[in-house]
Amino acid sequence: MANVRLVDVKKAFGAVEVLKGVDLEIADGEFVVFVGPSGCGKSTLLRTIAGLEEATTGQVSIGDRVVNDLSPSDRGIAMVFQSYALYPHMTAYENMAFGLKLAKTDRAEIDRRVRAAAEALSITDYLDRKPKAMSGGQRQRVAIGRAIVREPDVFLFDEPLSNLDAALRVRMRYEFARLHAELKTTMIYVTHDQVEAMTLADRIVVLNGGRIEQVGAPMDLYQRPANLFVAGFIGSPR
Ligand code: ADP
Ligand code: MG
Repeated sequence: MANVRLVDVKKAFGAVEVLKGVDLEIADGEFVVFVGPSGCGKSTLLRTIAGLEEATTGQVSIGDRVVNDLSPSDRGIAMVFQSYALYPHMTAYENMAFGLKLAKTDRAEIDRRVRAAAEALSITDYLDRKPKAMSGGQRQRVAIGRAIVREPDVFLFDEPLSNLDAALRVRMRYEFARLHAELKTTMIYVTHDQVEAMTLADRIVVLNGGRIEQVGAPMDLYQRPANLFVAGFIGSPR
């Protein structure tokens, strides 16, 4: 587990500044959700925390380490994307074990972690199946399992449910809540779904044009939006 701290984080692609100075402190074990209109920089901010993008200026800390110069694999994070390509020729078990094998984790430890993750995600019965023999929800669980087995200090989720149908999204929303209650690991979660944000978040961060408009507990944002943008965005059913 770890806290995450962003100090005046900026990110430009060429001449275009996408993150315009983001300051944020996320507590150890907190579930923080980023929302904001398409193109406002949610994914870029997550990727900058992950180390998939390099901050142009500013500081990114995870735990007690400044991680700006660390590669993604050294940051103690695991990330799950919307498009969570599994290896089609591997079973669910092998998909989850693969990264640990590459990291030379010993077999008994791999087995312990994969079975614990499968248990937490209710996919124990599907471990021998290949992706094409699984439903969308089961595949997404395997993708989450791949992140869990790494036992990261921080999980980063970029719209992990947006490729699933509505009913499954609702079910998986509860799975995330349960997972967080069980693992108690810091989670940073991007979504464009207001209900998802309201249900899951300890705090919601509203982004707009590469800046934070407001940070607060769901009910605070709902009842006391800082400005018209937040009021319009949080209030709108999308
Ligand atoms: P969001 O996830 O909130 O929809 P993104 O972080 O993906 O937004 O993108 C924010 C802005 O940065 C967009 O205008 C996008 O076109 C731009 N952008 C993202 N990645 C790159 C890149 N690698 N090169 C150039 N522009 C990018
Ligand atoms: Mg995005």
